[in-house]
Amino acid sequence: MNKPDPSWRPATLLSHGGRDPAKHSGLVNTPAYRGSTVIFPEHAAIAPTIAKGAAGIAYGRSGTPATKDFEALVGVLEGGSMAVATACGVAALSLPMLALLKAGDAVLVTDSVYGNTRDLCETVLRGLGVEARYYPPRIGAGIKDLLTPGVRMVVCESPGSLTFEVQDIPAIAKAAHAHGALVLVDNTWGTPLYMDAYALGADIVSHAATKYMVGHADALLGVVTTKDQALFDRLRAVANCVGACAGSEEIYLGLRGLRTMKTRLEAQGAAALDLAAWLEQQPQVAQVLHPALPSHPDHTLWQRDFSGACGLFGIVLNPAPHSRVTRFVDSLTLFGQGFSWGGFESLVMLYRNPTRDATPWPKDAPLVRLHIGLEDVEDLRADLAQALATLEVS
Ligand SMILES: *Cc1c(COP(=O)(O)O)cnc(C)c1O
Repeated sequence: MNKPDPSWRPATLLSHGGRDPAKHSGLVNTPAYRGSTVIFPEHAAIAPTIAKGAAGIAYGRSGTPATKDFEALVGVLEGGSMAVATACGVAALSLPMLALLKAGDAVLVTDSVYGNTRDLCETVLRGLGVEARYYPPRIGAGIKDLLTPGVRMVVCESPGSLTFEVQDIPAIAKAAHAHGALVLVDNTWGTPLYMDAYALGADIVSHAATKYMVGHADALLGVVTTKDQALFDRLRAVANCVGACAGSEEIYLGLRGLRTMKTRLEAQGAAALDLAAWLEQQPQVAQVLHPALPSHPDHTLWQRDFSGACGLFGIVLNPAPHSRVTRFVDSLTLFGQGFSWGGFESLVMLYRNPTRDATPWPKDAPLVRLHIGLEDVEDLRADLAQALATLEVS
C-alpha cells in the first residue's frame, strides 16, 4: 500500500502519501533514519546504487529513505514535481540560483522578496559575477522591458511575505519564457495546497518547509521542486556538492507536520481572515494587507490564483511616534515577537522600513506583520484590542 495515488485529494495524500508501514514492521510512520554511511553488500553493488541517482541510497548526504518519503509526498502534492529536501528554506532558494546561474548572468528579483533572498543576491551571487536587479512586484507583463540579454532567471514571491503584493505570475512567466529565462517561485505562503505555482508557469518552486510543513516551530527545513528532469538532475547534483542536505530529525518532523498541515492551515487561515476583517474596522489601523480581503488591491489576482490563505498578513498602523508603536507590539501577550511563522503559535513583528530598491515603502507607515496561530480567535481579538487601545494613550 501507500504508493500515493495521484487521484487522491490533498487531505488523503497528506495522510497516506510518503509512508509505507509494510517497510517498517507495520509502524504507521516512517522512522527518522539517522545515517551517514550506507553499507553495501559487496563492491559490485556500489555502482548500480549510485547509478540509480535520486532513487538510490548511497550516502546520507543524498538522503535516507525518510528523505525520499518526504520528497515523494511534496512531489505528489504538487501534481508530480520532483523534490530535493534542503537544510532550510534559504537553502531551497540558494540551491537553484547557485545551480543555474553563472558569471555574467543577471537575475530579476521581486522587490518584495524575503530578506535573506536579497542578502543571498547581494553577498554571494554578486561576488560570483551574477547581477541581481529588483523589479516592482506588481510589474506583470511589464517585466518584458527588463528582460535584457543576460537575464537567465526571474524570481517571484507571491504574495510578498512582508508586504503582501500578489504577483501576476502567469504574465511574468509568459514574458520570461519567451526570453528563455527560468521562473523560480518562493511558494512558502501559498504552500502546495493554496497555490499551484506550476499551473501559473513556474519552472522551479521553493518552500520554506520550516513554516507550515513543519508547523511547530521546532525545525528548519526546505524543499525545492521542479517538473523538468534536466533541472531536477542539476539541482540534485548541486545539492550534493554544496551540502544543502536536510538533517534526519528535521525530515522526520517535516513528514509529521505534513500530516496535519491542511487542518492547521484551514483553522489558522480562517482565524486570520476573521481578525484581518475586524482589524480593518479598528480606528488605529490605516490599512490591512491581506489579499483575501476585498479591499486588498490585488484581491482579484488572489482569487484567480489561490484557493485559500494562510495565517500570515500585515497591518499598517496610523502614523505614530516610534515609542508608541513599539509599546503596541510589546503590549501583546499572546503574540510572540520573533522571526519566522507557520507554527501553531501567534507571532508579531514590527517593521519600520522594509528594504526596497524598486518600490519605496512610505515613510511613517508602521508595518506590523501578524501570524495567527491555533489559539482561540476570541482570545487573540481581545489581546489585539487591548494593545490597540494603548496606541490612544500618549
Ligand atoms: C522563512 C522564509 C524563508 C526561509 O526559510 P528558512 O527555513 O528560515 O531558511 C524563505 N522564504 C520565505 C517566504 C520565508 O518566509
